[in-house]
Amino acid sequence: MTTRNKIGVLDLQGGVHEHIFHLQALGIEPVRVKVAEQFDDLAGLILPGGESTCLIRLLNIFEIAPKLREAHAQGMKIWGTCAGAILIANHIEGDKSQLGLMDITVSRNAFGYQIDSFNTRVKVPKVTENEVELTFIRAPKITAIGSQVQVLLQIDDYIAAAESDSCLATVFHPELTPSLAFHKYFVEKCGIAVTSELTERPDRTSWMKFARIAKPTV
Ligand code: GLN
Repeated sequence: MTTRNKIGVLDLQGGVHEHIFHLQALGIEPVRVKVAEQFDDLAGLILPGGESTCLIRLLNIFEIAPKLREAHAQGMKIWGTCAGAILIANHIEGDKSQLGLMDITVSRNAFGYQIDSFNTRVKVPKVTENEVELTFIRAPKITAIGSQVQVLLQIDDYIAAAESDSCLATVFHPELTPSLAFHKYFVEKCGIAVTSELTERPDRTSWMKFARIAKPTV
């Protein structure tokens, strides 16, 4: 009999450390998941942003994908951030789906090139009453959802965050901003209490600071 009482971060490729540091700031000591056997203890798993093609290849090479689906079916909740949201989507426009765990349709690289990455500030009332900063890095758009999926954030013509009973999908990167709100929301969705009062990481500045330096001047 397994006890699902831990949060894991898939540690194969992408923004792993940033998620780990955010969880630690909330008083959660996450599991860095490298092999499928580690799913047994997990109440929730974060699939980080990165490169979805690379991530799915690694999941298949290390034979993690079937076990991940099995653990999800047995109650392990999943949060896909950006590339992670692409991996869990049931439909990917113009491509075949990968893990297919959530009834959403995504359009990859829907904002353009890496240089078209951007920040914005919005309110996501279901997650926090404070305005939060959102960082989109060559993000997908969620373009459609199934009847069992709820929209958490709609911007213009696309959905930026959605959830089902067992999955959370965000096309942006809360781990690259100071706010801890989405991490708290996911940990609590997994049935784990967050005791920390912290709402932001004091040591974290926004990723956009670096984007401004990286943007070429014309
Ligand atoms: N563009 C990437 C992909 O399609 C996702 C980018 C990200 O995770 N920030 O996989």
